[in-house]
Amino acid sequence: MRLQGNNVIVTGGASGIGLASVERCLQEGASLVIADLENSDGQARAARLDDQYDGRCLFKACDVTDTAQVDRLFADTVAELGSVEAVFNNAGIGGIAPSDEVTDEDFLRIIDINLSGVFRVARAALRVMYRQGSGSIVNCASILGVFGQSQTTAYTAAKGGVVNMTRTLAIEAAPKGVRVNAIGPGYIDTPLLEALDDDMLQGLIGLHPMGRLGRPEEIANAFLFLVSDEASFITGTTLMVDGGFTAGKS
Ligand code: NAP
Repeated sequence: MRLQGNNVIVTGGASGIGLASVERCLQEGASLVIADLENSDGQARAARLDDQYDGRCLFKACDVTDTAQVDRLFADTVAELGSVEAVFNNAGIGGIAPSDEVTDEDFLRIIDINLSGVFRVARAALRVMYRQGSGSIVNCASILGVFGQSQTTAYTAAKGGVVNMTRTLAIEAAPKGVRVNAIGPGYIDTPLLEALDDDMLQGLIGLHPMGRLGRPEEIANAFLFLVSDEASFITGTTLMVDGGFTAGKS
């Protein structure tokens, strides 16, 4: 039980990578807060997991674009559970469009969730963790945080921002006992990819030397490693979990 007694918040925890990470941490003894949009499936999924894992899974509605909701998520979690040892800053959306056709509204929406949202959650986490003198934050970046891809201007800008913001947060937080890292997933088989047609999907699979999409559980395992004591000297890094996608490009 690598996370026995730890309290973990996962944003976007109702689906895909977030949900797999919630389950993995529950298996390792942690208490979990699924933080996701009010109208998501999070409430029902948290109730099911709470039954399965001895009352260790809560749902809290939180839109990461809303500072008050993010701050309340942390205040309520501390009030109910006492502490926050780990956070997966995972909520995110996709978006594909030619750059000359992207509207201000669409661009800013992706930045607001995928970059500013990550900052809001990290800031709230740091305030709690600095008081504790310990904690670990993992931000969800992407292979598209370190490489470009056609028709993903806002997404790549946001994820590139997450990679570099992670470094800065890590430098600031290290003397206060808090580690900050990121994960860079390759293409992972989650609802985020549902918008892609079969040809696009096959093309993306072909970009991974391992010849397949990743599974959400494979990102969950990386999250578990980064927040566990096994990663006690790791901070400021982005761990690529991408079936070799970036190896072929660097
Ligand atoms: P997913 O299954 O769609 O899960 C994302 C979750 O975030 C959903 O539950 C979603 O709710 C929630 N969310 C969206 N906007 C939110 C907001 N404003 N506040 C709080 N929660 C919000 O997608 P996923 O593939 O697991 O993605 C998780 C993370 O991995 C994202 O940061 C994504 O960019 C990153 N990633 C994914 C891939 C991939 O290939 N899947 C690759 C690289 C990186 P709704 O469903 O209600 O919108």
